[in-house]
Amino acid sequence: MKNEVEITQEQADIQNSIIERLRKRLESKKLTYYITTFGCQMNVRDSEKLKGILEKIGYTHAKEEKNADFVIYNTCCVRENAELKVYGRIGFLKAVKRKNPNLMIAVCGCMMQQETVVEKIKKSYRHVDIVFGTHNLYKLAELIENRMDSRRTIFDIWTEHKDIVEDLPSIRNNPFKASVNITYGCNNYCSYCIVPYVRGRERSRKPEDIMHEIRALAKEGVLEIMLLGQNVNSYGVGLEEETSFAELLEMIEEVEGIERIRFMTSHPKDLSDELIATMSKSKKICNHLHLPFQSGSSKVLKAMNRKYTKEQYIELANKIKKECPGIALSTDIIIGFPGETEEDFLDTLDIVSQIRYDFAYTFVYSKRTGTPAATMENQVDEKIAKERFNRLLEQVNQISYEKSIEHVGKTYQVLVEEKNSQNAELVSGRLSNNHLVHIKGNSELIGRLIDIKITGAKSFYLTGEIVE
Ligand code: SF4
Repeated sequence: MKNEVEITQEQADIQNSIIERLRKRLESKKLTYYITTFGCQMNVRDSEKLKGILEKIGYTHAKEEKNADFVIYNTCCVRENAELKVYGRIGFLKAVKRKNPNLMIAVCGCMMQQETVVEKIKKSYRHVDIVFGTHNLYKLAELIENRMDSRRTIFDIWTEHKDIVEDLPSIRNNPFKASVNITYGCNNYCSYCIVPYVRGRERSRKPEDIMHEIRALAKEGVLEIMLLGQNVNSYGVGLEEETSFAELLEMIEEVEGIERIRFMTSHPKDLSDELIATMSKSKKICNHLHLPFQSGSSKVLKAMNRKYTKEQYIELANKIKKECPGIALSTDIIIGFPGETEEDFLDTLDIVSQIRYDFAYTFVYSKRTGTPAATMENQVDEKIAKERFNRLLEQVNQISYEKSIEHVGKTYQVLVEEKNSQNAELVSGRLSNNHLVHIKGNSELIGRLIDIKITGAKSFYLTGEIVE
């Protein structure tokens, strides 16, 4: 593994010239690709960049993986299940490759940042052609070229990088909604989380690069921006000219054409009063905040290394609700963290009932090798964790439903995003508060912001009709 590799803007030019070389070399072959993305929005955004590089080379998207000439898995290592799925899929491709020896297989992303995974691929999955990690995905064209020239498996995993390569191609999944990275990596080392080890130290993109990207997106017709970072609230730390996250949001607010601004994820310990003030006066920041609390017990929070207490979290959430009336709050909760007692669990239920989340993403704690929590001795019995999880689920679902019905009869603006997959007469979209809504209409509405009246509510979605 390489360490602390300096990447300069020059790299973007080098990669663009390799893309051009490969384009000429492969022009007559009419090759296709298929990407599968596991995990979070960061990976989804990374895959858009991988697609951009592949399409610039001349690959076109294959409808099915089994017919593709280049298959790539962008992996996640947050949960063990996702890892097992990846191994299963790579194993399956062995037979496909036997039939089509020209098939090229690449695996990349967070899983590959772990030495044990790379060793396993070297030993048991020799039919893989290219293995790379999270820090050098901008080098995809170079890795493909190396593979073609050497005919050996290419392993290129870096432990860290310093700079951020801009100006490489990317293919956006959606013409009216776009994700924009503002930070990479994480410095927080929550004791259950593998992300800081696989995504590296936190680095912020320069505000001018972010603004350049967002202005270009607005010109292309993008209405909604999702700003991405493991902890957006610490944006700007380490930049030459320090810019706070709130200041960045204020700059984005000025961009003509951008109608909605979302962001995730917010670490409660870094959520400033300045940000709350910016949110409360903004016309474009959506009326939704994802604010993970993970556990309601201050003792467990300490063991998780979250750096806030139950009381501090509740105070913060109440302050946000007061300053931003009607805001929808969502959260992440982990049940069964090592050492969690019934009393600790009751603290978790207590936060849920006090804050009353519109949405809650609930997880049973799962051990991640390489994290401090994995070696903690007081692991919670699986049965007990499941039983607590079910009790929690009952409570969060009930509250979600109660929050949903509060919207019935009210009028909101919805960004229509897609045709409804279950009912051809419906289209679906999101309100500013992130509630999913289904309305009667056809695909001409997709990509438009329209006013609707909410006519019905379930725990996980609303129904509405267009206001004439
Ligand atoms: S803030 Fe904590 S949970 Fe989130 S990515 Fe960083 S270490 Fe993981």
